[in-house]
Amino acid sequence: KFISLEGGEGSGKTTAIHFIQKWLESHNIPYLMTREPGGTPLSEEIRQLILTPREETVNDVTELLLVFAARAQHLSEKIQPALEKGIWVISDRFLDSSYVYQGKARGGDFAMLDQLATWVVGDNKPDATLLLDISVELGQERVVQRQHQDRLDKESLSFHQKVRDGFLERANADPERIKIVDASLSLEAVQKQIEEQLLQLNNA
Ligand code: C5P
Ligand code: MG
Repeated sequence: KFISLEGGEGSGKTTAIHFIQKWLESHNIPYLMTREPGGTPLSEEIRQLILTPREETVNDVTELLLVFAARAQHLSEKIQPALEKGIWVISDRFLDSSYVYQGKARGGDFAMLDQLATWVVGDNKPDATLLLDISVELGQERVVQRQHQDRLDKESLSFHQKVRDGFLERANADPERIKIVDASLSLEAVQKQIEEQLLQLNNA
């Protein structure tokens, strides 16, 4: 099974990943935990290139190609070999993040995204995508409460709103694959929703 996890700032993605990891271990399910952009040494180097703030304005096409270059390597080196062995793959972000960050939020070309998705991902879409959905306001509150901020967030509220809207639009367009998890609820309630999805996948 191939599962991706998506969500905006402060949605609790990292906590959810830890929960999923413990759940898989307690069910003796072999799994591979990975992330995007990144997941292989080369793809992690590309991640650094993408996330490093720089003076030079990064061309939209350049950013798109970098994200998909990292993904091509990630798929062939890590995701596909694991799936072929029957290992579950859990990816912290995948293709939907490209549509949302590079497309919706940064104004990238959706036709180009579709073409790159066909070319690089093809049929290797996740069996399920868990979307941790939270309002921008609550997400920001949670980020402020965080002790360690992995990265200074320079994006505006309107950027985060586009991210949230972008994910919800994708979920509405593909409800079979993308399961919306209400991430505004308590930790226990969020984990219960995630566990229900994992149980469904395990029984499918
Ligand atoms: O929360 P996470 O560690 O996944 O954050 C990585 C950051 O990388 C995101 O907050 C987002 O700003 C950025 N990103 C991006 N384009 C992607 C994936 C992530 O700009 N396709
Ligand atoms: Mg995080």
